[in-house]
Amino acid sequence: MKKFIISIDQGTTSSRVILFNKNFKVVDIVQKELTQYFPNEGWVEHNPIEILNDVKFLIKKILIKNHLNPIQILSIGITNQRETTVLWNKKTGKPIYNAIVWQDRRTSKLCDFLKRKKYQKKIRQITGLLIDPYFSATKIKWIIENKKNTKKLIKNNNLMFGTIDTWLLWNLTTKKLHLTDITNASRTMLFDIKKEKWSKELLKILKIPESILPKVVSNVYDFGKMKIFNNTIQIGAMAGDQHSALIGQACFKIGQSKSTYGTGCFLLMNIGYKFKLSKQKLLTTIAYKINNKKMYAYEGSIFVAGSAIQWLRDKLKFFKSSSDTNKLYEKANKNERIVVIPALTGLGAPHWAPNVRGAIFGLTRNTSISDIIKSTLQSIAYQTYDLINCMEKNSGKKIIDMRIDGGMAKNINFIKFLSNILQINIIRSQNIETTALGVAYLAGLFSGIIKKTSDIEKQWEYKDIFKPKISKKLRKNLLEEWHYHINKILN
Ligand code: ADP
Repeated sequence: MKKFIISIDQGTTSSRVILFNKNFKVVDIVQKELTQYFPNEGWVEHNPIEILNDVKFLIKKILIKNHLNPIQILSIGITNQRETTVLWNKKTGKPIYNAIVWQDRRTSKLCDFLKRKKYQKKIRQITGLLIDPYFSATKIKWIIENKKNTKKLIKNNNLMFGTIDTWLLWNLTTKKLHLTDITNASRTMLFDIKKEKWSKELLKILKIPESILPKVVSNVYDFGKMKIFNNTIQIGAMAGDQHSALIGQACFKIGQSKSTYGTGCFLLMNIGYKFKLSKQKLLTTIAYKINNKKMYAYEGSIFVAGSAIQWLRDKLKFFKSSSDTNKLYEKANKNERIVVIPALTGLGAPHWAPNVRGAIFGLTRNTSISDIIKSTLQSIAYQTYDLINCMEKNSGKKIIDMRIDGGMAKNINFIKFLSNILQINIIRSQNIETTALGVAYLAGLFSGIIKKTSDIEKQWEYKDIFKPKISKKLRKNLLEEWHYHINKILN
């Protein structure tokens, strides 16, 4: 009987379930879009029940579609959108409020208050993070303070918190296991990433009771069993999406890094066993913990990457499909020197300037749609340069190549330019489903078809490598031009 691994990839815009064979090749993918709620300016919510029902539906669908019996599934791995916060009633199982999504900015004022109270240094030392509404802590506090009955539920020990991994696990294991994995925990702004436990000090500052928090465990663990079709399937792994992609790209060595170019861009660099803070504003996070071996990563994100392409497509109506941008790039006029800074929702690392907005410099009567598209794509490469520069300075390690994935990794002209600007080889993996693949590898470790992480490195295959080809002078000029303009909007 053939055996398989299943990954649940619960993302921001959709939930996906992916079936892998024992060689970690994708056999099938099923997917369902997720409803987005925007009840107020800057608020973003999901319905936790919809997420749960979609995931259950998709698991059943993939089993039926592929004529599989649950006993053929060696184990399930769960990877998820991070930071998104759910609070629910332990007795009824019902959410107290919608899930507050990582993009939600409603707790900005509370974060400003925490900064004014000078908690930044302490929070950074304990959690590796910067005070920001992005992380779960202030979202939890908002729900506790704004919803009725939460105090009573806390008193009776009936209030539960979880990020999406925890919410799914508790429900899939028929309300038995209240667990999270160490990578998801490290994005709550409540977790001490050195001592590997919830920080009593931060819980006290934020007045969040420890009783509502899940137990934190490693990424490969006995996460219990899911009941399905009168049978059960073992859940053997959990990891936050970007951490899972780092594993899916087999970045187990210090200095190895991956960059995922989806809606936003998330760059993670493995920095090894020791906790380190960057001098600039990169986040320090737990990369993964497997068999008692814990590694840290630096993380930097560019808020607007693929979503700049969506903006050109949907708002400016420059083209029909994102994939058209590759061809249009080639039509750009070589003599046009425009600079697009698509800071549509502010700038992320290393600037952390949420209030800055985008700009286009150097427009002339000759500027065409292609010029704007090319320059927008190039801007993502320049921003990656700024991030990498910052990571190298802080880690003391030279990045020699970078593994990339995500929707924008389909754009050859973008990748070539990225390689030129970074002056390193850009590697695309054979399997583009790297987020799902990472947690599938981890589930494989749990069920024993993989013995150690070095086996993952052996399994991992690249599709193509892009090498830098640009004159030193041109590169220097382009970078100078970029920095001149980015400094203009920052100042
Ligand atoms: P997410 O996981 O964040 O939903 P994906 O990894 O699926 O994102 O990538 C989707 C993003 O990639 C979209 O914003 C889209 O505009 C962009 N994208 C897709 N194909 C291309 C392409 N060929 N060139 C440039 N951008 C692209």
